[in-house]
Amino acid sequence: MKKTISVVVPCFNESEVIDFTVKELLSVTASMSDYQFELIFINDGSADDTEAKLLNFSKQHDNIRTLSFSRNFGHQQAVSAGIDASRGDAVVLIDADLQDPPQVIGQMIEKWQQGFDVVYGTRINRQGESTFKRASAKAFYKVLNRLSEIPIPLDTGDFRLMDRQVVDQLKAMPEKARFIRGMVSWIGFNQTYVEYERSPRFAGESKYPLRKMIRFALDGILSFSVKPLKISILMGFISSGVAFLMLMYSVYVRLATDEWVSGWTSLLDSILFMGGVQLIAIGILGEYVARIYNESKHRPLYILKKGLDGEHSESRQQETE
Ligand code: UDP
Ligand code: MG
Repeated sequence: MKKTISVVVPCFNESEVIDFTVKELLSVTASMSDYQFELIFINDGSADDTEAKLLNFSKQHDNIRTLSFSRNFGHQQAVSAGIDASRGDAVVLIDADLQDPPQVIGQMIEKWQQGFDVVYGTRINRQGESTFKRASAKAFYKVLNRLSEIPIPLDTGDFRLMDRQVVDQLKAMPEKARFIRGMVSWIGFNQTYVEYERSPRFAGESKYPLRKMIRFALDGILSFSVKPLKISILMGFISSGVAFLMLMYSVYVRLATDEWVSGWTSLLDSILFMGGVQLIAIGILGEYVARIYNESKHRPLYILKKGLDGEHSESRQQETE
């Protein structure tokens, strides 16, 4: 029997690109006739007609399925929903804007057939992305790897193929703050990569404004590392050490000489410095506490609209009435 591969595509306001994307994915997957494909599109609460277009496609093609969220839950949630709904022996994650060329899926499948459980795409070139985005992405991965206890591959997005055994592990991980590429690294098994050139978005705008990027970067760092907490302790030690030395110096000057340390500038300065350090430390602590709070609410990861995709009874979805 042919093996089935699920292709998961998160879509948020992708009306401009979706027709072409569906066409392209259909033709690329049709060219790999040794495998069966199911294409799962997740409409992440788009405000445009992405949903209508997707539903239309799934009516026309048996191997296209559409899930739709009750509102915009975010990229990682959309990908999670697709993973939860997937039935294939392997699952491929790909963006709707075709920045990650679907042709690479063929190479990923080859590696998978050689026995690898995860094949991620590594970008060797990011055309059409601003210098700022490239530089910030690079800095982010550097910082993340410094801080994180597990290595997370550089220059890698969510474009990847995962074997069923990895997918099942991923599905069993309940955390709300999802940073899928880190979670997959953490799961382990046999992982490898294929290189590809990241093309520019061919239409539409990036749905990742700076605000979302920062949020996502924080999720990555705070979910995979407790080092920021340790750094805040270190900062505390350093600044109180400096303060202690200054105190010793002032006592020495007062006792051993006829002068004393004058002026309130240095005093004010050190108060401000200490205050800053304390606020940073409390802020870091607060981020972790907020995460504990969010996880402890046990809300579903996402909410699906009812009846669009027929029967699936996975745990993490709660359908609206
Ligand atoms: N996306 C999503 N929900 C969001 C934001 C983005 O499902 O809230 C999807 C989007 O439709 C695209 C993918 O995630 O398929 C990547 O988004 P985008 O191309 O805007 O990000 P970039 O490539 O600029 O990082
Ligand atoms: Mg993109």
